[in-house]
Amino acid sequence: MGNIQLHDPDSMRRALSRIAHEIVERSGSNEDLAFVGIRTRGWYLAKRLANRMTQIESWEVPCFSLDVSDFRDDRGHSERDQQKTVSAYDQQPFLHVDPLEGTFHLPDWLSNQWVQGKRVILVDDVLFTGRTVRAALDALSRYSRPAVIQLAVLIDRGHRELPIRPDYVGKNVPTAREERISVKMEEVDGEDSVWLHKS
Ligand code: 5GP
Ligand code: MG
Repeated sequence: MGNIQLHDPDSMRRALSRIAHEIVERSGSNEDLAFVGIRTRGWYLAKRLANRMTQIESWEVPCFSLDVSDFRDDRGHSERDQQKTVSAYDQQPFLHVDPLEGTFHLPDWLSNQWVQGKRVILVDDVLFTGRTVRAALDALSRYSRPAVIQLAVLIDRGHRELPIRPDYVGKNVPTAREERISVKMEEVDGEDSVWLHKS
């Protein structure tokens, strides 16, 4: 039935800029703030938000990337959902820490107190059932106790299966369950664009 473009590079930049401003306004200061981006694209979005906040307010906000599911990619999702949440535990999701450019397994990362007592902003590209975010929350709170965890997403496409809602949203996009959103980012895909693929 055709595709609908939801973002081009300019509108994506503006959406991220707005979210960065909202975070600045609601956070008040960068003290104890930290981004945790869900790999893959949530990580790049988190870095862009952090860079924008440096431009806006000269805030330095550390960015961490969290890998909660190797097999949840942009190709499909359904019966794997249950398995995915479990695997976040089993595989000991790893976190990559920037700017140290090291790779740490979760207990090391958390024992270094990177998120203990911090105001964590979890970032992902698309929010759908909420199960990925739930796995990320499990991972973060398993070894540590952040002071606050908030959620920022570029696209909220609905169909939640858990009581999870984003604090910062680029765009709310009503979708049919079987429809797909493709998110492309310069860092991994060579371009910035978001499309809704109608079924
Ligand atoms: P959830 O766990 O909320 O069902 O799905 C969210 C995760 O799956 C996110 O990490 C997101 O990257 C991916 N995802 C779910 N639906 C879509 C979609 O329509 N398009 C893209 N690009 N990713 C999706
Ligand atoms: Mg993802």
